[in-house]
Amino acid sequence: MEDELLEEPLSQETFGDLWNQLDFPPIRAEETLPWPNVDPGWGDSALEELNRVWLVTGETSGGYTEPLGPAQVQPPAEPPVLTTSAVPSITDYAGPHNFQLLFQQFSTAKSVTNTYSTSLTKLFCQIAKTCPIQVKVSSPPPPGSVIRATAVYKKSEHVAEVVKRCPHHERCPDFNDGLAPPSHLIRVEANSLARYHDDEHSKRQSVVLPYEEPQVGSECSTVLYNYMCNSSCMGGMNRRPILTIITLETPDGRLVGRRCFEVRVCACPGRDRRYEEENQRKQCEKLTVKRSIKEVSQPTVSTEPSKRKLSSDTEVFTLQVTGRERYETLKQINESLEVQELVPASVVQACRQQHKLRLKAAHKKESSASEPKKGRKLPLKDEVDSE
Ligand SMILES: [Zn+2]
Repeated sequence: MEDELLEEPLSQETFGDLWNQLDFPPIRAEETLPWPNVDPGWGDSALEELNRVWLVTGETSGGYTEPLGPAQVQPPAEPPVLTTSAVPSITDYAGPHNFQLLFQQFSTAKSVTNTYSTSLTKLFCQIAKTCPIQVKVSSPPPPGSVIRATAVYKKSEHVAEVVKRCPHHERCPDFNDGLAPPSHLIRVEANSLARYHDDEHSKRQSVVLPYEEPQVGSECSTVLYNYMCNSSCMGGMNRRPILTIITLETPDGRLVGRRCFEVRVCACPGRDRRYEEENQRKQCEKLTVKRSIKEVSQPTVSTEPSKRKLSSDTEVFTLQVTGRERYETLKQINESLEVQELVPASVVQACRQQHKLRLKAAHKKESSASEPKKGRKLPLKDEVDSE
């Protein structure tokens, strides 16, 4: 199913070209940009990314001094120090070898011990159970390259803290095999070449494994990871979500690939995955509804005549009027128009109706009386109707 990239073996020429592209001189931390005068033909963005990655990792590398020769494929005794920056990057980076991770288990059955959600980019697994992760590259990285797994807290308020096991599990003999340091959360299972690393400066813990070429007939190599605490462990992760960063690193200290995914270690991975995916779906729906309401209401507001009048016609005029009485009359008319603009049309209509009724009642009263008193003016019919 994942065979779109390496269906046929590369020709000698293509491989040779690739190999030459990858054969950079060893880089030292004190070297500065620009990148050595090599044109690997990856395009500017890939090169920029590499330079950037190198800058980040180059600045902080210190512990690794003896690059392995090309013939050696054994893991370095002291793994290269690359992830020592205070906050490791969590940006996916395919790099020159198109570094990818593949998961095998997607079931949400109750019995499942690990399952991966593509929509959440999150692995759900049980404590100390095997989590197979496949590593895929489009071209082999330099011999002696390694794969490193580091855990970091997902939320910015916790990211400075090093992810470690809880004190209980660290001391618990059931979950300690004597091979991995007891405080390390992530372990590699069934591989004696795994090396555990505690960074001298950042104190971050990681496990490093030599990159292994896929076996004949296969296009991926598989790494078996274990998570040795529950996400809920008091004094450890303490319900704080974590991310796992898997990096591909060359023996001369370059980072050439990075992938990142969230991890939840829990009793029921299948159930928890279903629950979180359902929540994600609801959130998406809510956002869609909110957006559509906004889209519908915006044009209604902009075409409302009174509002448009208020907002667009704001020019001020001065009118010279002779005689106080006329001035008072015009002032009243102006004030009425201002009020009318502010009051909803339905209220204006109701007021008019009420006014008509009042006038009619007054008219009846007057006509029922024998004779109108002198000087008192009755409203005319036209006036009433035109109101
Ligand atoms: Zn624990």
